[in-house]
Amino acid sequence: MEKDNVCINCYNQIDKVAKVLKLGQAELDILTIPKRILTFSFPVKLDSGDIRYFTGYRVQFNDARGPTKGGIRFHPEVNLEEIKTLAFLMTLKCAVANLPYGGAKGGIMIEPKQFSEEELERVSRGYIREINGFIGHDVDIPAPDVNTDSKIMAWMLDEYEKLKGRHSPATITGKPIALGGSKARDFSTSIGGAYVLQELTETFDMKPKKTSVAVQGFGNVGMNIARILHEWGYKVIAVSDSKSGIYNKNGLNIKDVISHKQKTGQLSKFKNSGEISNEELLELKTEVLVPAALEDQITKKNAGSVKAKLILEMANRPITPEADDALLEKGVFVMPDILANAGGVVVSYFEWVQNSQNFYWSEKEVLEKLKTYMANAAKELSKVCTDFKCDMRASLYINAVKKILEAERLRGNLR
Ligand code: NAD
Repeated sequence: MEKDNVCINCYNQIDKVAKVLKLGQAELDILTIPKRILTFSFPVKLDSGDIRYFTGYRVQFNDARGPTKGGIRFHPEVNLEEIKTLAFLMTLKCAVANLPYGGAKGGIMIEPKQFSEEELERVSRGYIREINGFIGHDVDIPAPDVNTDSKIMAWMLDEYEKLKGRHSPATITGKPIALGGSKARDFSTSIGGAYVLQELTETFDMKPKKTSVAVQGFGNVGMNIARILHEWGYKVIAVSDSKSGIYNKNGLNIKDVISHKQKTGQLSKFKNSGEISNEELLELKTEVLVPAALEDQITKKNAGSVKAKLILEMANRPITPEADDALLEKGVFVMPDILANAGGVVVSYFEWVQNSQNFYWSEKEVLEKLKTYMANAAKELSKVCTDFKCDMRASLYINAVKKILEAERLRGNLR
């Protein structure tokens, strides 16, 4: 097979699992070479009247289990290798969460802050004109990602529907509710992670009232998980954003913290709390640590100082591979991102189901179903962990890879 398109990062990530599962060359090719890669440039008229060309990508990694699914990010550092890796991770995430999807990812090299809203609309529509022949509710279903949101999804859907001359809401998820978006989508990633944590605290016999939690990052994911865990009775002792962090060993009232941040634009100077740096937050004595900001926050430099018993990876790749090994050796339990933050894609799947049947669910129904999906995936994972005597991350990869290869085998694509 032509090897030019091999995703090197994917190869590195699958290496350990390949040995455990004794994968052959054809299996490795399926898991490291994307099925389809689109790279293109397209013109956009700027407000000044000038024309600017943008580079876009869409990678559909594997579709053995169903149409491919994955977000579209707007970022100046978007590049093909990154998009391939993220599409591979989406393939694994959908398999782990038992969604009938493969994985994809897309992106545009753009610094969105430098463009007006009208320009961003033209960029979004231009991107869809390039990929419209390769997406669809039963082919590939985009969604929001870094720097893209429900407003951008609405423009993208509108452009797609104009080109096709018919309504097709199930082609794009993460839409505003008025255009067929799902209830609970905006906090689905956080509540999905909270459901996984609930499963774990039951296993570890940790009672919410006696369980302290520190959350790094106070954006969509961090703020919502801190709020939900506080509402469920957990003791959220520290939170931080890019500017500052706050700490109270007896617990913070997160509802008040949110109002304080909305009023003052910052976390610092919150009543009855001390200041804490991001570095200190990661090293706090706490039962649960929730990195919910950026990648590479726990590295081999600070892994030795982490005192948490359990880490719930809500951000993507917050722990480097070296730090992961060090934490494992120390006996820190890590619930990896690929399951911990899968709640968003599960509710995207629910949105697609609701659009397909033209029948919409209440928030209660969405959350009940989400809880079942997250709890089942967590239970399935502990079984794989026991069967293969592997850590959580390796077990998640084994579980996903087995499902993807089984689908390929049933299709006759593997012996
Ligand atoms: P966001 O932009 O809404 O929030 C990011 C937060 O991190 C902000 O509060 C920011 O101030 C803070 N931050 C930035 N740098 C920091 C630093 N050095 N230390 C501490 N805090 C810092 O982003 P989000 O949507 O909440 O996403 C957070 C993470 O979760 C990302 O890794 C993202 O890829 C991942 N994720 C998000 C979703 C989702 O549905 N939004 C789904 C899956 C994964």
